[in-house]
Amino acid sequence: MKRRDFLKTSAATLAGAAGATALLAGCDSEQKATAQDAPAVHTRKKVRWRLASSFPRGLDTIFGGAEVLAERVKALSGGDFEIRVYPAGELVPGLQVLDSVQQGTVQVGQTASYYYTGKNPALAFDTCVPFGMTSRQQTGWLLEGGGLELMRGLFADFNIINFPAGNTGGQMGGWFKREINSVSDLKGLKIRIPGLGGSVMDRLGATVQVLAGGDIFPALERGAIDATEWVGPYDDEKLGFYKVAKLYYYPGWWEPGPSLSYYVNTEQWAQLPAVFKEIFTAAASESATSMQARYDARNPAALDRLLGHGVQLKPFGSDVLDACAQASREVLEEHAAADPAYRAVYETWLKARNESFTWWRTAEMAYAEAAFKLG
Ligand code: CA
Repeated sequence: MKRRDFLKTSAATLAGAAGATALLAGCDSEQKATAQDAPAVHTRKKVRWRLASSFPRGLDTIFGGAEVLAERVKALSGGDFEIRVYPAGELVPGLQVLDSVQQGTVQVGQTASYYYTGKNPALAFDTCVPFGMTSRQQTGWLLEGGGLELMRGLFADFNIINFPAGNTGGQMGGWFKREINSVSDLKGLKIRIPGLGGSVMDRLGATVQVLAGGDIFPALERGAIDATEWVGPYDDEKLGFYKVAKLYYYPGWWEPGPSLSYYVNTEQWAQLPAVFKEIFTAAASESATSMQARYDARNPAALDRLLGHGVQLKPFGSDVLDACAQASREVLEEHAAADPAYRAVYETWLKARNESFTWWRTAEMAYAEAAFKLG
């Protein structure tokens, strides 16, 4: 007899008897009978997961997405499925979330797939690439354009099943101590920028650094870097960059709509009861929607406050943007030339991206321009 079957039989025998709960609790913490359950004993499996996030607790937008996931999973399962969320550094360093889920150190992670392009460059398409898609375009491609299926094929190599976890929306170009009036002003610029955006900046002559969130402010303050990007007004305000750099450039062409991800260990997923799989999937979707909504609702007021602190908004000039777009395309094409598997993802993605912008220009962009002029 299997242990679980044995416990069920034991529970039935003991139901209603004093001390049954204590006895069972002592046998197996996942299997409890309670006085209210008697005489029909419920033996629904209780699941407790740990989630490692790549993000600090203080960012209630992005880390808050994982908290929404946990709250909804608990509520929808009547408390039978609980996920405890840990910010970056508490269980594992922020950039080792993929490894910890792959190895089963934690059951689930919240992260951004472009942190792991060193393992497979095509993972960048799960998040975003320079001059890629906006938040809604990326979500459309992932959920309805075949993107998620492609990405799950890549993540299977890492013993992971991935779920879209939300989006920051279009990011800002970041905080600069000196003006960028032409592409030549990027030469020698010491800038903190991760991922493929960093590769593009490097190609244009900048000196690229990758620093974790907590290390950026001191580096900018003491002049170790001349510029940094992070996310957008609401998150950037919390990290205080405006206190030491007053020029706030836009748009963040390297992150026009970065999609975050949940990673679940495939063995843990396989063991999950079917109803909990449905609950997790629904809660992940709900948390993703709430993350974008939080950014959209909180960024406008944060930008207003930053301007009140004397911050100057600066658009990148069209010649700068053109040069960055050209260099971005070159970086993507070079990866595709070097790796057929990457090319397969890239070409599918590129087709979707280009078609999407033709449509967006027709309706969304034209409307946004007209509505903005109205004031
Ligand atoms: Ca960023």
